Amino acid sequence: MLTHFDSLFDLLAAFPDEQSCIDHVRAIRWQDGEFCPHCGGTRVYHFSDRKTFKCADCRERFSIKVGTIFHDTKLPLRKWFMALWMITNHPKGIASTTLAKDLKVTQKTAWHVLHRIRHAARTSSFNASLKGTVEGDTTFIGGKERNKHAHKRTPGSQGGFATKAVVLGMVEREGELRAFHVRDTRVKTVQDIVRNNVAKGSALMTDEDRVFRGLGADYFHHTVNHSEGEYVRNYTVHANTMESVWALLKRQIIGVHHWVSSKHLHRYVDEMTWRFNRRDMKVTARMNDVFSCIEGRLPYKALIA
Ligand SMILES: [Zn+2]
Repeated sequence: MLTHFDSLFDLLAAFPDEQSCIDHVRAIRWQDGEFCPHCGGTRVYHFSDRKTFKCADCRERFSIKVGTIFHDTKLPLRKWFMALWMITNHPKGIASTTLAKDLKVTQKTAWHVLHRIRHAARTSSFNASLKGTVEGDTTFIGGKERNKHAHKRTPGSQGGFATKAVVLGMVEREGELRAFHVRDTRVKTVQDIVRNNVAKGSALMTDEDRVFRGLGADYFHHTVNHSEGEYVRNYTVHANTMESVWALLKRQIIGVHHWVSSKHLHRYVDEMTWRFNRRDMKVTARMNDVFSCIEGRLPYKALIA
């Protein structure tokens, strides 16, 4: 059913016009059966324009975009598809200024499109608990570099930002990543997130930061002492995967977006997490994975509130 595309060129050939995009969204959204986005009814009438549907139960007319990230959009779906391709296939994501030029839209439109796609990507993750061997770590984004511990400094951003934000990450070795912008670094705040995301009894590798102290009650907790330069105590006790995740996050935030506000930081963290967790997927699979989570709208008002 799903068309194969390995490049942006293939994508544009597979979806030559608005109708082909509508048909694709419909095929994905209704793969388990047709339903009304208003009342959930399953008796749906099709109009001959192939764009309009009507519910036999609540009598509402609707398009296939109602209730998805494409809700209310004036932008042709073809441009959305191009944006989806770019954000899912550029290894570091894409800046709204770049996307605006590529799609011939305003930067405000590009910014909103990217945030809606990030919103879609977010809804599909955060399900199963991590288990086995899990690395946990925190990093600072922004803030005065000189106040940070050596291994938490961001190269090239010395003296840059006045405020700092903390991101907590947990990654299963050879598995999935969960990362969150945390509001504060109280022990309870951080450990509640760890306990909600890592299965009890897992092996947990962290540094000696106070926020991780006490987790030994629920996990086989091993620590690495960064202050003494002890990054790898033996072959298993290390947080190297998290270190590479932070490098990735910082390259995306500083390299692509230059800087993001604390208010929106969680969206970029989610995008990086989404991309990391799909690092082994092929192009088409990754695209269709985003298509499969288009449910749920993100109005502009909610985004800027
Ligand atoms: Zn209905």
